[in-house]
Amino acid sequence: MSDIPNGFTGVPRRDPDFVSAGDAIRAQEASARTYASAPSARPSAAASATVEQAADMWKQPTATPVVSKSLAKFLRAADPSAADAAPGFDPDKLRLLPEVDRRWSWVEIDLSAIRHNAMAVKSRLPRGCRLMAVVKADAYGHGAVRCAKTALNSGAEYLGVATVDEAVELREGLVNAPILVLGEPPITSIPLLLAYKIMPSVYTAEFAIQYAEAADSLGLRAPFHLKVNTGMNRIGVRHDEVVSFMHQVGFHRALDLVGTFTHFATADCAETLDFQIQAKRFLEAIAALRSAGINPGIVHAANSAAAIRYPDVHFDMVRLGISLYGFHPCPETYTMIDLRPAMSVHARITDTKLVPMSEGVSYGMNYRSPGSVKICTVPIGYADGLRRGLSGNTNFIVEGRALRQVGNICMDQCMFEVDLRTYGTRRRLDPQIGDEVLIVGAAGDAVVTIDEMAEKLGTIQHEIAIGFGCSRLPRIYR
Ligand SMILES: *Cc1c(COP(=O)(O)O)cnc(C)c1O
Repeated sequence: MSDIPNGFTGVPRRDPDFVSAGDAIRAQEASARTYASAPSARPSAAASATVEQAADMWKQPTATPVVSKSLAKFLRAADPSAADAAPGFDPDKLRLLPEVDRRWSWVEIDLSAIRHNAMAVKSRLPRGCRLMAVVKADAYGHGAVRCAKTALNSGAEYLGVATVDEAVELREGLVNAPILVLGEPPITSIPLLLAYKIMPSVYTAEFAIQYAEAADSLGLRAPFHLKVNTGMNRIGVRHDEVVSFMHQVGFHRALDLVGTFTHFATADCAETLDFQIQAKRFLEAIAALRSAGINPGIVHAANSAAAIRYPDVHFDMVRLGISLYGFHPCPETYTMIDLRPAMSVHARITDTKLVPMSEGVSYGMNYRSPGSVKICTVPIGYADGLRRGLSGNTNFIVEGRALRQVGNICMDQCMFEVDLRTYGTRRRLDPQIGDEVLIVGAAGDAVVTIDEMAEKLGTIQHEIAIGFGCSRLPRIYR
């Protein structure tokens, strides 16, 4: 590990021989103070050596680098006097510097958990019932392409997204499976649908006709799923109007009705009456299509909650979103299925200090030191999805022990408290700069979950997971 320049990567505690730039500066300041008060004392050789060591990281490589035009331009603009001198940085090497070595906070995605969850749900489905992996919003913050491929290798056959661009991203990531956009996209996006073989959900005649015309003019088919509104009243053809809708558009030879679906508003609620009404309306709509001689294709309705709780609505496919990522959609499912959260959130300590009793910490100083505490800082804040509403109301985990986050969570950083007193036989914790901190995850007996964060904030896990996963935090897969 000694060849790793920053001394931290991949080691749980910091390398005893490593001196950070901050250490070097502190040491230099300390010796400068000594020097000022006692002119006979000189700054220590060690302190100046470490400053040079730190500067060495940025020394020019000896080989002539291949320089990208934009970097070369930037370097010239920064230092016009060096106009024609070869800049000393190799852009390829710069790009290879791992993201976790640029900022000490990141999200980890355990793809084996995604695999486990897909298989756990798939095993509950009857033979022939398909599994759609819903990977909208960058797979709820878990990374669409990686999660789609993992789900497709674990029993899923279909993908669901919210936007045309999300579907294009999957295709460009070399994903071949059928992709359904779960809403009706703008008519202006039709060329992308046809070019990338992306299926739209359809509920307006205008879209259906334009889509069919565009496909026909290119000698292509126009496959789609019909969206039925059975009571959620978000989008869809009303449940009692599906036959007349299909008669309105069905004359067009290019149109292929590949599937018919609805969406439940209350599959995750304890009260089941509204769910039953929607299920009944959907069954009636499907029966009406069949008796009008229209094949509804793949019939689907269930989201995660319905897929786990109500086998009666499995039909030909279920659409798995939140549970694919390891979250329980409602309390009822905890005893029904084993799910494993795939996301954990990590950081490393960037500063530590002993804060004297009654001194405040962070904006507003809502927290005051009770004394005998070490305050540690981590570089993660509400711009990274760590919601400010959790200030003083969540734990971080260091070496398997839960520690209190204290003070207001800032945009890019926040603090936590380490009690330095000893109790009985409990080992004292004394975290150092560079030590790893779990913001979300489990270690030892300590657990911090996205579920409890959502609960504290009065929201659902989807929003918290997307908050971390779609932020500027890098994602690491394992
Ligand atoms: C998002 C979405 C899903 C997935 O819902 P989960 O509750 O996350 O499983 C299923 N169907 C539709 C139409 C959706 O928009």
